[in-house]
Amino acid sequence: MIHFHPGKAEAFAADEARAHWHDTALWFVRVKRDRGAATVPEWEQLRAAAEGIKAHTLSRLADYLEEFERNARANGIQVHWARDGEEHNRIVHGILERHGVTRMVKSKSMLTEECHLNPYLEARGIEVVDTDLGERIVQLAGEAPSHIVMPAIHRKKEEIGDLFHEKLGTPRGLADPTILTAAARKHLREKFLGAQAGLTGVNFAIAETGGIVVVTNEGNADMGTTLPPVHVASMGVEKVIPRARDLGVFLRLLARSATGQPVSTYTTHFHSARPGAELHVVIVDNGRSEILAREAHRKALACIRCGACLNTCPVYRRSGGYSYSYLIPGPIGSVLGPHRDLAGHASLPFASSLCGSCTDVCPVKVDLHHQLLALRQEAGEEKLIPLGKRMGMKAAAFAMARPRLFRTGGRFARFVLRVAPGLARFGPAAVWLRQRELPEPPGESFADLYDRETAGKQEERS
Ligand code: SF4
Repeated sequence: MIHFHPGKAEAFAADEARAHWHDTALWFVRVKRDRGAATVPEWEQLRAAAEGIKAHTLSRLADYLEEFERNARANGIQVHWARDGEEHNRIVHGILERHGVTRMVKSKSMLTEECHLNPYLEARGIEVVDTDLGERIVQLAGEAPSHIVMPAIHRKKEEIGDLFHEKLGTPRGLADPTILTAAARKHLREKFLGAQAGLTGVNFAIAETGGIVVVTNEGNADMGTTLPPVHVASMGVEKVIPRARDLGVFLRLLARSATGQPVSTYTTHFHSARPGAELHVVIVDNGRSEILAREAHRKALACIRCGACLNTCPVYRRSGGYSYSYLIPGPIGSVLGPHRDLAGHASLPFASSLCGSCTDVCPVKVDLHHQLLALRQEAGEEKLIPLGKRMGMKAAAFAMARPRLFRTGGRFARFVLRVAPGLARFGPAAVWLRQRELPEPPGESFADLYDRETAGKQEERS
């Protein structure tokens, strides 16, 4: 196994104060999401509508993508198709090279993280400046985003003050978020003014109009596309929606699910390039068609990257984004990562309590915990889970298929737990018991209790 989530999670949780702070910070966002959702009486109808629109679109994805392409071209947008990340990067580089670009500003795009665009362009002499504040912080720190909506959520404001002091020359010891934000704004303003191209992600691409929609809270996408003469927009194939009127469903769900806001600060519609400028849309597959072909997992493509499943997940909140091996952490990453490479991300489907909270908060009703369970089975079938766990499961299946053996084993376990409870701390449950109290073993099993109760009731009836 290439990467083991529990090992990384243990390292994160070893700093108890930080783990607690991380948990609290994300729970705060989850509570804001709940309050935001509660202000919309038709919330569940919106979720059902979003689920339906996505399911319909995914069932006719090729048709809607072609319709989008036709209408976008008619608007004067240059449309490109990329089979994978490498092709995406080549296309973007080709556009930038043709325009002699040496600096590009970029707003948040998990797709470009997925394609490793930054190192690709930097290796070819093009400076890439991430302009979302959180993304700029992690870029300056040489890190990857630890959350899809709040990329620097793992960093405290004091650490950001130290980072800005080192990288931007701000006074030592700054920790006031307003002052730090002002320093970042000044630094980024210079980068915006000196850039020859801007790249954005795409939140929604509308087939009917051939336009794209980009949602941000900081206005950085607007700055990055208004100043330079070249705008490149990178979108995954799953971002297309059929009609402009569908947008209202998603925009109402997205902002509230992501941060609890009633509406994102900037929702920008691009239907053509500015006069004298160019707008390129690069449509990327990079493994999405394979997910689409798997009926049981297709719903994962409906994700609108709101981050709500991360904020609610007890495992993500207590283990941090870097304990996940895939660039997208949390429940949705634990689904998407194994789709890309099951062997490389085999521990991720197990990074879940299967409590179902992720599924409950998802605005488009991705059946996350069901998918995680299915992926666990696939990992088991492929023998990608640790030998000890596999043997344990085999032993459990053997005992459960033999009621007499199961009952005898239960009696023996209850006896041992009564006379020598400390022994459990040396067995397979040792890790689990490190932070938990062992419950009192019951005097009898559920089966014994059931037999006794039903026998008593039968006597009463007769
Ligand atoms: S799976 Fe659902 S909750 Fe998670 S990021 Fe995607 S849309 Fe949001």
